[in-house]
Amino acid sequence: MNKADSLKLADSLEKLGYAQAQSPEDADIVVCNSCVVRQSAENRVASKLGALKAIKKSNPDALIALMGCMVGPEFHELHRHFPHVDMFMSPQQFGPLLDLASKRISNAAAVDYVPTEVPPATFVPIIHGCNNFCTYCIVPYRRGREISRPIVDVVDEVRSMIERGAKEVTLLGQNVDSYGHDLLEKPDLADLLTTLNDVDGLQRIRFLTSHPKDMSDRLIETIAKLDKVCRHISLPFQAGDDDILAAMHRSYTIDQFRQLIGRIRKVMPNVAISTDLIVGFPGETDAQFEKSYQLLEELKFDMVHVAMYSPRAGTVAAKDMVDDVMPEAKKERLDRVEVLQEKIETDINTRLLDSTVKVLVEGNKKGRWYGRTATDKLVFFDDSRNLLGQTVEIKITKTSPWSLQGTLV
Ligand code: SAM
Ligand code: SF4
Repeated sequence: MNKADSLKLADSLEKLGYAQAQSPEDADIVVCNSCVVRQSAENRVASKLGALKAIKKSNPDALIALMGCMVGPEFHELHRHFPHVDMFMSPQQFGPLLDLASKRISNAAAVDYVPTEVPPATFVPIIHGCNNFCTYCIVPYRRGREISRPIVDVVDEVRSMIERGAKEVTLLGQNVDSYGHDLLEKPDLADLLTTLNDVDGLQRIRFLTSHPKDMSDRLIETIAKLDKVCRHISLPFQAGDDDILAAMHRSYTIDQFRQLIGRIRKVMPNVAISTDLIVGFPGETDAQFEKSYQLLEELKFDMVHVAMYSPRAGTVAAKDMVDDVMPEAKKERLDRVEVLQEKIETDINTRLLDSTVKVLVEGNKKGRWYGRTATDKLVFFDDSRNLLGQTVEIKITKTSPWSLQGTLV
């Protein structure tokens, strides 16, 4: 979501006549886009902001702005800590920065706006904010309540992305399954996917993140039916124990989650499913963690994003619950999940050996082309031609838990 927000702001600045600088030291405007989902992310932002102090010192006219989830409704404290930052903007509140930027640019300096190319695989937000208030999560406090974008807006943006070189879009939202409930005609994600499937030039459609309480059978059937929609679903379970799930305010039980995975795999046997999991939520006992571990063993996800619980000021968990799982225990649980998951992903990927997969080529790293399959597997291969943006067939010759390698068919 932050990537999409940054691209949108950059585009708006380019429309005013600004051009991308080679480094922050050369820039008239430096915007730091922040994530505070965990303390570790917040620490990274703080150290980046610290580094920008030198830039402000050597170029006092540079405009330094902080945007994103680090900026809450009150930012006096932030201002006290980072006095060299000129402007604080909540997520997507670009208005004041654009006003100032437009006043500052002189006609002589302005560069003609030529729409820049976008990557073959790009992002399009479809619903902003979140209404769920999971007790550990800061997002609803910083990104506000859910606001869906009308289907026509999304289609317009997707068309313009295609004109600028995109072949694949990932539709973004904290909970894409609740897309449309706030719009007049109450379309849902299935309606949006169906409309986008007919857009010329668009080759692949992805969407994330889904919420287990909101993923409907109609949506599952629609994904299975539409040829451009990738068979890849991001479905966080967060914890394997019902009491912990209730304390997290996730609104489903593990049995309901298991049944949902069963329904998805019945309709789409080759679907890839990734998930998110928090270890060391307040009160999580060893036995409760074991249930998360066993669920991973049982359901065998294609990818797991695992994080140690990190209290976020202002959330219900930080206010009303004790962060009582020791850091060493959290780390041990995290390490066990990572070791298990490496083994599971090794097994899943080994099965792809000698098969031929379709890959949308997204870039070149150290002379090797890379791209993804519809099931979100990263694939590397060699070829001397420029294949950027093309969909190619690759025969898989080597696998690892994190990526595949192959040769062009
Ligand atoms: N909306 C998605 C969902 O429902 O899972 C994900 C959004 S959240 C910003 C991304 C991931 O960060 C979550 O899935 C969760 O696992 C993790 N996360 C959120 N708050 C956290 C916290 N306080 N401590 C550790 N991990 C957290
Ligand atoms: Fe956070 Fe829960 Fe909303 Fe995801 S669904 S953004 S975890 S509150």
